[in-house]
Amino acid sequence: MIVCKFGGSSVASANQLAKVKSIVESDSRRQVIVVSAPGKRDSSDVKVTDLLYSCCKEVKESGSCDNSFSQIEKRFIEILEDLNLDTAFFKEALKEVKEKINSNAGENYAASRGEYLNAILVAKYFGYEFIDATEIIVINEDGTVDDETWSLIDSKLDKSKKYIIPGFYGRNKNHVVTTFSRGGSDISGAILSKAMNAEVYENWTDVAGCYNADPRFIKSAYPIETMTYKEVRELSALGASVFHADAIAPVMKAGIPINIKNTNDSTAKGTMIVSNKDSNGPIGVSQIGTYTKLSCRKLMLTKAPGMVNTIHSVLRTYGINPMYSVQGVDTFSLLFEKNSISDKNLKLLKERLISEFQFEEITFVSDLSIVGVVGQEINDDLLNYKKSLDALYDNDIKVYQSVVGASSLAFFLVVDEDKAKKSVEVIFKSLF
Ligand code: ASP
Repeated sequence: MIVCKFGGSSVASANQLAKVKSIVESDSRRQVIVVSAPGKRDSSDVKVTDLLYSCCKEVKESGSCDNSFSQIEKRFIEILEDLNLDTAFFKEALKEVKEKINSNAGENYAASRGEYLNAILVAKYFGYEFIDATEIIVINEDGTVDDETWSLIDSKLDKSKKYIIPGFYGRNKNHVVTTFSRGGSDISGAILSKAMNAEVYENWTDVAGCYNADPRFIKSAYPIETMTYKEVRELSALGASVFHADAIAPVMKAGIPINIKNTNDSTAKGTMIVSNKDSNGPIGVSQIGTYTKLSCRKLMLTKAPGMVNTIHSVLRTYGINPMYSVQGVDTFSLLFEKNSISDKNLKLLKERLISEFQFEEITFVSDLSIVGVVGQEINDDLLNYKKSLDALYDNDIKVYQSVVGASSLAFFLVVDEDKAKKSVEVIFKSLF
């Protein structure tokens, strides 16, 4: 059997839903269908999930979500009418949701209702059974999946039937509606794929797959045919946004392949994500920012065992998560997310580091980005690294730090944020 997840743009209108229906009906193995809330129909549109977050804001400000909720009602009713479906049953559901949001049911509840309402609608349209995600998915406080989920799915879902299930949310241990992070319907699909032992998890979106660079600014970027789970993790961490990074874990453990496919071009192969593949080398380049680099100097630094650890714990008390640390003879440096600390606290931190560790020199460089090249065993062939550095050098792009060898799956180059896109462009040109 196949588990399918259809993202927001795939379910944004009646026209898109008709495509989804024909995709699902064209292969009888497509039995479990996870849906997102209606997303954008065009670039100026607003996602239903965003409207739901606005509802909460409105309730806080004025006691009622009339304004945003009327836009939500309009969207759903328009879809139902365009599909020639009865609207009466749905108006009841809308009314109940609105009342609950108005009675301060909270952000998680409100945000989850886009998927909830949409799954009810799609189940009606397809004639499949609707299962509420709160009946089968239990989410822990840290956002991970609680083990109770597996037995719940096992007892509620029949392998011979077809289901429509809302993505993005479940419940917590106290039976309160809880959402995953944004884009979390990917996680719901992964959970169901694992629980149902699917032969493949099809993740339907509005692009041709996972691209080897951001196609919005690299016009010659193209979809990656096959990549491993580990490569997806690396690429997602670098800002590539096709697939939610946390959705890898459930399917990876079970070895279930993921196929990223395009609802608007359903016969195209898309990207296959698998455990192992034979080919090594670069598969993608991406960038993420904004970071600040901290560098410290002190004579005999490396002769003071444990010092770097102590500095890391001081940084953590300021809410900083140190990353990409590198150490020299009398120096060390690391990066952290710029907005994890205010300018005021950064000043205090500097004073504290100087007084506590007697550094001779401390510098902060901000507005940096990390450009990463990802690929299985990428560092086995140093030519990839050389070509990337040459490309930056030839374009006068300064490299503040480089991390090679921390992983066999990627290397990273730190550049000015305003040069990050240019860096991706020139590295892409030299590697692909
Ligand atoms: N609707 C949610 C969002 O916009 C979840 C999802 O689409 O996966 O983030």
